[in-house]
Amino acid sequence: MKSLRFAGNSRIEVIEARMPEPKEGQMLIRVRVSAICGSEMGGFRSEKGMEGNGGHEYAGEVVDPNGCGGFSDGDRVGVHIIIGCGECKHCLADHAVFCEKKWFCGGAHSEYHAVPAHQCVKLPDDIDWPTGVLIAGDAMGVAYHLADRIGIRGHDAVAVFGCGPIGLGNILLLDFYGARPIGIDVAPARLKLAENLGAVATINPKQDDPIARLRELTAGEGPDVCYECAGRPETVAMAFEACKCAGKIGIVGEQPEASFNPSRDLIHKELTVYGAWYWRLSEFFEMARLVREGLDVKRLISHELPLEQAQTGYDLMASGESGKVILRQW
Ligand SMILES: [Zn+2]
Ligand SMILES: [Zn+2]
Repeated sequence: MKSLRFAGNSRIEVIEARMPEPKEGQMLIRVRVSAICGSEMGGFRSEKGMEGNGGHEYAGEVVDPNGCGGFSDGDRVGVHIIIGCGECKHCLADHAVFCEKKWFCGGAHSEYHAVPAHQCVKLPDDIDWPTGVLIAGDAMGVAYHLADRIGIRGHDAVAVFGCGPIGLGNILLLDFYGARPIGIDVAPARLKLAENLGAVATINPKQDDPIARLRELTAGEGPDVCYECAGRPETVAMAFEACKCAGKIGIVGEQPEASFNPSRDLIHKELTVYGAWYWRLSEFFEMARLVREGLDVKRLISHELPLEQAQTGYDLMASGESGKVILRQW
């Protein structure tokens, strides 16, 4: 089967790979669409590259249910990146992210992929492939789960620090919820995308002081909510400083260390800080409902390419100027 290999130093090879053999409890999926995720950029850029590829956002057709109940040949499914054991209390409560035996799906930029049935969700007929990969993948999943954790209300002014695909997904959803997202990024192309997806204003920290601009845009108070989607210590610091008193902070940008001042930021300002990791499989159904109510998630996609042109897709992602890039096999 055809597959991608991260060949090192930002090179992608289209290779002929061995067909995956599903183990007990796993199904064989014919991949129809996979999305490139920002989290793959480390592996893509690394000198050594890797054996396969970092693909983990995908949707496809079941070609061999392998005895897994509830699925048949031809079922269209979306796949959750986190594969839990399926048996512990966290897995049974749909929190596979907390499972001690969890592993992460990888290598999904391929013609076929094997995955446990309990991490698959059937795509309804009215959910097409691009929509399916966005709402069964991190692009919308992270945004949905974060907004749900925080309890976003219509008219909340929300500063979104970092307008990569995750920040953009948040902006799209916040706009749909009636909130007022403000996009902050140093890349003009991404600020343009943020505006197109519903940001009421954008700020480029290379040109303007984000804290002062955010105050201006919120009648001097600061945003009700600040999202940190850039994964940088300085944007975490800005989020704490900018947020209004008794406001909320949502952190989804991965990074090892950032600092805040407990007295100044938490005690005296009474801020509440939320983390959110991925999303829950059951949230797929709520996202599908939002799509039916008019949430046009496909606006997040800036480029759609055949799998064979993956190099172009990764180069676009690496340029920092794209929205979501998807690789098509349908
Ligand atoms: Zn991802
Ligand atoms: Zn488990």
